[in-house]
Amino acid sequence: MGWIPFIPRAVSISDDTATYLKLRYRFWKSRDVQGDYKAGEFVQDARGRWYVAFRSEVDDDLATGNGSVGIDLGLKELATTSEGDAIPALQHYRQYEQQLATAQRAGNKKRVRAIHAKIANARRHHLHEQSTRIARENQLIAVGNVSASKLAKTRMAKSVLDAGWASFRHMLRYKSARRQAVYVDVDERWSSQVCSTCGTMPASRPRGIADLGIREWECSDCRTLHNRDVNAARNILATALEHQRRVGETAALRGG
Ligand SMILES: [Zn+2]
Repeated sequence: MGWIPFIPRAVSISDDTATYLKLRYRFWKSRDVQGDYKAGEFVQDARGRWYVAFRSEVDDDLATGNGSVGIDLGLKELATTSEGDAIPALQHYRQYEQQLATAQRAGNKKRVRAIHAKIANARRHHLHEQSTRIARENQLIAVGNVSASKLAKTRMAKSVLDAGWASFRHMLRYKSARRQAVYVDVDERWSSQVCSTCGTMPASRPRGIADLGIREWECSDCRTLHNRDVNAARNILATALEHQRRVGETAALRGG
């Protein structure tokens, strides 16, 4: 019996022929290959017959979860959800900073480019992983439109943040569309000032740029202790749900 894994890059496949390392192999397809094949192998069975097996990457099942989630995009965290999950931002960057500094000092442009590419890849992978999970678990995904006051808080390049937020949003949008889930952008202007428990704007709320550093606060009306970002995400979700409800009512009126 034989078994020869092949290098995906070195194989090209047509309908009934695989060319590998310049040799052509004819084969009969037992079923269609879905998606992009990532790897494969030549396998020989006990009777000496050879098979070629392809392993391909396809989207996981496109069922949609029942959840509804609000998402507050941020600086320290890429995003915080109404469920209280924090999705870290730029977490793959730090491990490369040292390497990058060394390469830059040495004037090694090729290496600098390679490290930048690695960082971009790691970041994209991270965004894909997180957006896929969220799209899989929810049928309503509400994302706050990021306010300028958040950017005032940071020394990080605006373009870097914008790029991260924009691609995350983009991924969430098309992944929810693929699963027939609803994606909405929500005006987040008051989301961090309203208490998501009692719905008031209590005197104790964090306000303006001066209070951007405040991570936790207690509602002076109902005494709920809030994590600032989770509270904002809950308000973003509430706005989206309210909007859905109103759209539903209008549709019902028209229908009636
Ligand atoms: Zn309250």
